[in-house]
Amino acid sequence: MSLSEIKTRIQKAEELAGRTAGSTRLIAVSKVQPDTRVQAVLEQGHRLFGENKVQEAEGKWPAFKEQFADVKVHLIGPLQTNKVKNAVALFDAIHAVDRPKLARKLAAEIQAQGKSPDMFIQINTGEEPQKAGVMPADADVFIKECRDLDLPIIGLMVIPPVDEEASLHFALLRKIAQRNGLTDLSMGMSSDFERAIALGATHVRVGSAIFGARTY
Ligand SMILES: *Cc1c(COP(=O)(O)O)cnc(C)c1O
Repeated sequence: MSLSEIKTRIQKAEELAGRTAGSTRLIAVSKVQPDTRVQAVLEQGHRLFGENKVQEAEGKWPAFKEQFADVKVHLIGPLQTNKVKNAVALFDAIHAVDRPKLARKLAAEIQAQGKSPDMFIQINTGEEPQKAGVMPADADVFIKECRDLDLPIIGLMVIPPVDEEASLHFALLRKIAQRNGLTDLSMGMSSDFERAIALGATHVRVGSAIFGARTY
């Protein structure tokens, strides 16, 4: 698949859902992809990318940012507290805020750097023990904690369990966001972004469908 095909599918999904054209942001997930593929997508005019590791992004994006103006990079993977400083310096948004210690570190670093990336709180809607994210039952309290720290929380993020219908998880994420007055929803990947758009995704994170399979 290509970038333009994915964009067309996003437009169709928005139309089907009765949503405003262009209300879904496409995050091209470039983790692990060779620079040549990333370069090609940049040359097609795309400017919003996602990475899941701080170190990998640091090795890749400063050079691309020099070459292409207005590039934005979002951290979509888990963040360790010892990488918070670098993450705040590099990324335009952080999608996986999920614990008090991390929230406090982020708040301190925002103060220190005078730079504040948009933030999403990751919710573990499938309540999977191995997965990052706040349990749904703890979400309201954690969102309030983050707001008390003045973190610029704009929305919620989810990675549904692989073996369950994603739509149920997208709907739950939307419900938690709505009752907390949060507008943005980071949900939907290559296999399910159209279903996510139908349920209100504002940011879809699409990797392999744009760049091809990742070879680790
Ligand atoms: C890798 C990744 C994606 C993209 O996955 P694809 O299936 O390649 O679209 C989306 N979100 C997160 C958090 C990821 O780590």
